[in-house]
Amino acid sequence: MRFDIVTLFPELFAPFLTAGVTRRAFESGQVEVKLWQLRDFAEGSYRRVDDRTFGGGPGMVMLAEPLARCVAVIRAERAGPQQAPEVPVALFTPAGRKLDHGAVEQWAAGSGAILICGRYEGIDQRFVDMYVTHQISLGDFVLSGGELAALALLDAVARLQPGVLHDAASSQFDSFNSALNGLLDSPHYTRPEMWRGASVPDVLLSGHHARIEHWRRERSLAITAAARPDLIAAARAAGQLTADDEAYLNAAENRKKGQARI
Ligand code: SAM
Repeated sequence: MRFDIVTLFPELFAPFLTAGVTRRAFESGQVEVKLWQLRDFAEGSYRRVDDRTFGGGPGMVMLAEPLARCVAVIRAERAGPQQAPEVPVALFTPAGRKLDHGAVEQWAAGSGAILICGRYEGIDQRFVDMYVTHQISLGDFVLSGGELAALALLDAVARLQPGVLHDAASSQFDSFNSALNGLLDSPHYTRPEMWRGASVPDVLLSGHHARIEHWRRERSLAITAAARPDLIAAARAAGQLTADDEAYLNAAENRKKGQARI
């Protein structure tokens, strides 16, 4: 798997690629990351990569030509002597599809992509129309550049690679994963058992695995129902909620209605 990152700020990536649990994926080349300084593909002594926006208005727009040249060099390098399949070209933009677990799983199972990090007001639309195959948003807010979005994608993809997390099973029990039927994770506690007057739920200290699992499932259902009812609806539509799950959700709903009446 190889990600080619096109950016005006390659230095933002280095600390991230050498720290934390995902470092192993990047250092071993399991997830190969190659950084491309867009300015190297610009013309003239100023190495200009942006210009004013046609039609007027504030801010600058990234030029299409340096981006196209950079992508051509990356494609040639990736293809090598053989004709390689077309590599996806993903642009980070608020106009893209919001990144979610399903999309991360797809990228994690693929062979990588060319990732374009925008800056300024964005990039010349003609480059988008001609080259970009995927548009990815990190959420409904505006960043100063696509680098943080690229880092978010790299991190999420790297931790799904086999052997990257210390405990291979741990990502499977994270929020949104199929082992949780796409629901949110339950709360976690660690030592000390009593912290500033707050105790750990007794069941977690009981050593009774079935009861602990039961408690975790109920907490997961409760948290998801409160924060993300859409995920409950999706699990229900996929037939992934058991009769016990439904009974718990019904009882919780009735309790809520009862409290509202008081
Ligand atoms: N004028 C653009 C707009 O209003 O949609 C915002 C440009 S933003 C200042 C500069 C760059 O940051 C964008 O080209 C994009 O690459 C990146 N960016 C900003 N917000 C983003 C988001 N929510 N998700 C992904 N990338 C984002």
